[in-house]
Amino acid sequence: MQTHFTQAQLADPLIREGDAILRKCVHCGFCTATCPTFVITGDERDSPRGRIWMLREVLERPETASADTSYHIDRCLGCLSCTTTCPSGVDYAHLLDIGREKLDHLVPRKAPDRLMRWMLAAIIPHAPKFRMMMRLANLGRPFSFAMPQIIRAAMQKLPRHVPQLDPVGSRTEQFATNPSSNLSPSASNGTAPVKRVILLAGCAQRALNPDINASTIRVLNRLGVEVIVRKEAHCCGALAHHIGETKKADAAMRAAIYAWHEEITAGTIDAIIVNASGCGTMVKDYGHLMRHDAEMAPLAAAISAKAKDVSEQLAELDLASILQPQITSGCGKIAYHSACSLQHGQKIHDLPLALLRQAGFDVVQPVNGHLCCGSAGVYNILQPAMASELQQRKLTSLQNTGAIAVAAGNIGCITQLDSGAMPVRHTIQFIDWASGGPQPI
Ligand code: SF4
Ligand code: SF4
Repeated sequence: MQTHFTQAQLADPLIREGDAILRKCVHCGFCTATCPTFVITGDERDSPRGRIWMLREVLERPETASADTSYHIDRCLGCLSCTTTCPSGVDYAHLLDIGREKLDHLVPRKAPDRLMRWMLAAIIPHAPKFRMMMRLANLGRPFSFAMPQIIRAAMQKLPRHVPQLDPVGSRTEQFATNPSSNLSPSASNGTAPVKRVILLAGCAQRALNPDINASTIRVLNRLGVEVIVRKEAHCCGALAHHIGETKKADAAMRAAIYAWHEEITAGTIDAIIVNASGCGTMVKDYGHLMRHDAEMAPLAAAISAKAKDVSEQLAELDLASILQPQITSGCGKIAYHSACSLQHGQKIHDLPLALLRQAGFDVVQPVNGHLCCGSAGVYNILQPAMASELQQRKLTSLQNTGAIAVAAGNIGCITQLDSGAMPVRHTIQFIDWASGGPQPI
């Protein structure tokens, strides 16, 4: 794509980066067919190619930015399906980051939208507050008819089942490699661990499903991996980052980097394990996001280099040594839902499938598995109509597989799809089951 930035504009490092990304787009339109919002609306402005065109306008001729521009950019899920399809390697994710940052200044949001974004970023990344919000939503739902539409829509999207808060992440802990570990932190049992890893306990996930971290720790411990959790690293910052709450995102990133960097620098940690793929994509991008901060950039890059989805870590270990095939044999088909942040954001698709199959499950995939389920962080709250349409489509294609349950690697998708018709659980919960843990379905 041709660009016409002035030298003065190119003095801005963000514009320079945007220019380099824009120039890679050859405007072929291959990406449009795999873009969920274009598939639904058929509107070029809801396609990657259309959005790239609009983002060029935002950067090149900021005076042309309008509410219409924001409307179509806001409807982008950030699912990155377009980056998987694009033959030119257009870095749409970072172009979107740059464009959104500029657009937020050029076209100020209306007060209710600003307030909603502020509230979501202030509450959801803090597990106890988020849990309290879900409980209050349950109490307030009968009176929701008297509430503003934006609050009503948000309440509809919050899960009604509020489990106990996940204790993992509430304090700094070390989970030793004792195969019979009941998740009580303990000193080493005398056997040198195969690996030592840090686990990001996460934020919303701790309020929504306390079993995912428990399963992760059990499986890793069985494989001889010592797991460390730092309570200061309570959130990766992704949620705030994607809705333009940049100060909150920055604070969360810095807290995580400060919490982890000493052990990373000392070389005593093999990996940082993330079991929510939306968060994994973010932590793997810390090096890029902190690139303009001279002090933080090397620390952030070192952390990104150590970040691994839990499936990547399992693939390096002797999973077969802990599996008990008799446990799950004959349990029925499991559908694998490939979270966008895993298959497109981190380009990990085959690995979780292979692990589930190795664990003895009969795994099937839904048609159009490349399309987003509509969760996309808090997209389902901010864009409820589009999110519901995508959710329905995904549920139909999952049900058409004839599976009895669904495995997925991201808490956002799990919450969006766990409608009751088919239980949706994390991939690690199925592997935990197949290696002696509790049955998740
Ligand atoms: S597929 Fe890539 S090069 Fe083609 S229009 Fe889409 S982003 Fe541009
Ligand atoms: S990130 Fe997803 S929704 Fe946004 S343009 Fe790309 S494919 Fe479409």
